[in-house]
Amino acid sequence: MKPINADLHCHSTVSDGLLAPAELIQRAHANGVELLALTDHDELGGLAEARAAADEVGLRFVDGVEVSISWGDDQTVHIVGLGIDPANPVLGDGLRQIRSGRDARAGLMAAELDKVGIHGAYEGALRYAGNPALVSRAHFARYIVERGHAKDTKSVFDHWLAKGKPGYVSHAWATLDDALGWIVGAGGIAVIAHPGRYRLSRTERRELFGAFKDLGGRGIEVLSGSQKDDEVSEFARIAREFGFLASRASDFHGPGESWIDLGRLPNLPEGLIPVWSQL
Ligand SMILES: [Zn+2]
Ligand SMILES: [Zn+2]
Repeated sequence: MKPINADLHCHSTVSDGLLAPAELIQRAHANGVELLALTDHDELGGLAEARAAADEVGLRFVDGVEVSISWGDDQTVHIVGLGIDPANPVLGDGLRQIRSGRDARAGLMAAELDKVGIHGAYEGALRYAGNPALVSRAHFARYIVERGHAKDTKSVFDHWLAKGKPGYVSHAWATLDDALGWIVGAGGIAVIAHPGRYRLSRTERRELFGAFKDLGGRGIEVLSGSQKDDEVSEFARIAREFGFLASRASDFHGPGESWIDLGRLPNLPEGLIPVWSQL
């Protein structure tokens, strides 16, 4: 069977991406993507526009979301939900609850950045986000670049905003239990986003995968634009061992801000079951 160009993780202006949902669809289509999921952070607001645009160009579209959860000792882990019903009220309420915490966190992040000489960060980040409920670290990063403190948004995280750096504020997101309940309850498939990006030991990682599976989680991003190439074989091995479906995910945020453009990923390693075979 010929592999299809599936890309099951990206962001629009409805969360911290740079392109509107319809623009994202046009770019995906131009890049040869055949199956796309929009997975904004804790938001479903872009799905209707994206689906309409996808129908217009004949691109298969999957309703998605990326849910932030707190795990273990102050880690944030992202769980992608694919094929969810955007009208599901429990999912909608849960995401609204997560978003309501973002504005308070943004205020605390700005206060921390102010102490190290980066002033006006709340207003600056809000200008990029457009909505207080959506302010994220990526919006702060764009402001820090704008003020000349870093050359690009990727290097911002080396000095600020990451755990242990100024501007980092720990935050209680949803629990793994909540996220799986909402995604599965809304008819979706839960997938661990960019598994290589968490600062977890091997043992802690296995604990996460095990708990995720016990709660009904079914997939991991074996290919992700936001993790290193040498991790692919490791996550392919884990997918086989845990019986996880494999996802292929650019995590595209916008031109110039992402490592990989929409759909520009290698094929999944042999012998894995693509998550899109179940969508
Ligand atoms: Zn993520
Ligand atoms: Zn993402």
